[in-house]
Amino acid sequence: MKKYLFILLLILVFLCPGQNAFAQTLTDVQDHWAKGYIGQLVDAGVISGYPDGAFRPESSITRAEFIKTLVVSRGLPLKPRVNPTFADVETDHWHYPYIETAVAAGIIVPGDYIQFTFDPDEPITRVEAAIFLSRSLDLIEESAYTGFDDGYQIPQEFRGYIRAAKERGLITGYPDGTFKPWNPITRAETCKILVCYMYEQGKGKGLVTLSYDHQLPSVYENAFSVHKAYGYPGVNYVCTSSVGSEGNMTVKQLKEMESAGWETASHSANHLHFKDLEVKDIRNQLERSKLWLEQQGLTSENFAYPFRFITPNPLVLEYYNSGATSYDKEINIRPVNPNKLNRYYLQDPGREEIKAVLDKTVAEGGWVIFHTHNVYKGSQKPDSKSINQDTLQFLLDEVARRNIQVVTVKQGLQIVAGK
Ligand SMILES: [Zn+2]
Repeated sequence: MKKYLFILLLILVFLCPGQNAFAQTLTDVQDHWAKGYIGQLVDAGVISGYPDGAFRPESSITRAEFIKTLVVSRGLPLKPRVNPTFADVETDHWHYPYIETAVAAGIIVPGDYIQFTFDPDEPITRVEAAIFLSRSLDLIEESAYTGFDDGYQIPQEFRGYIRAAKERGLITGYPDGTFKPWNPITRAETCKILVCYMYEQGKGKGLVTLSYDHQLPSVYENAFSVHKAYGYPGVNYVCTSSVGSEGNMTVKQLKEMESAGWETASHSANHLHFKDLEVKDIRNQLERSKLWLEQQGLTSENFAYPFRFITPNPLVLEYYNSGATSYDKEINIRPVNPNKLNRYYLQDPGREEIKAVLDKTVAEGGWVIFHTHNVYKGSQKPDSKSINQDTLQFLLDEVARRNIQVVTVKQGLQIVAGK
């Protein structure tokens, strides 16, 4: 019996998606700035660590190794050719099919190389990596200016590729405005640009949810149209006993939003603080709000704890698929705990704060569930628990620019469960 249990556990370990299972075992990345990027790519099988358990994030990467990661993350079928293109890339070598695939896809242009030598085992420079990246996505801009202060060091005919990669956010350069084109790219830097490259192809792992508490009419009046312009859904966490009364949204409005892809979820019936309630009263809040949502024909799968979140309550999962917090400024790193979904509280946030949390979502492959209350018109100064339309629009722009998938809580839970 024990043996079967062990086998079952092994199967479960290998079936559980997105838990950074392989990355967890790397010995030298746990405190590295690129840990999240490395983990995502190692788990996706794009790049691997060394047999001794190290990843060597600061080591260089060879041309052949870089091309392999690019071909794998692009998902190009391998196209070996009968006649080798390069004199120093031989048919029996592991890198042969990857390099020939890259040649066939127009990523490597043989004419760029002297006497048909590719030097597959030489470290790849930052500029070459950026050129390959842009070519693999057919990106080029007519520009003699790369966007970097030291771009003049790059031959003119390649500058448009660098510019295009920078414009798409695939490469960022250094804080001093330089790109250092001829430096070798490190394995850690490679992971960062490849994660951005996955997003550019719509294959990023990160998720964004926007949720609004308390059925406030300003969500229908001021947020719904901004969401619609992007085609992004949102989530309304409603206190069911207040819906339809003065100063609250109506069932009709919630339904209209649902038909545009939004989700309605419970924020309890009366917004009473769970810590002051007996078990039977907690059950009453959970059950009553669920029943009401069901009776109205609204979605009723998920729940957000009323008031500042303290400890997950196991009763929540008897009625709902998740219990979301209302206070933490954290993103959910996989695996997520459905009984404590962190919600990142948007309280009149600054633009730098928004960019930083979205960058973290990309870097970690995490799920950020934003949460706020009112949405004020235009650039009107919001109250401390809320935001305005300009900030919401900025946030959605930044999400779109990074190609992060926007989901409801219901959709997000399915994705993180691998369904
Ligand atoms: Zn609340």
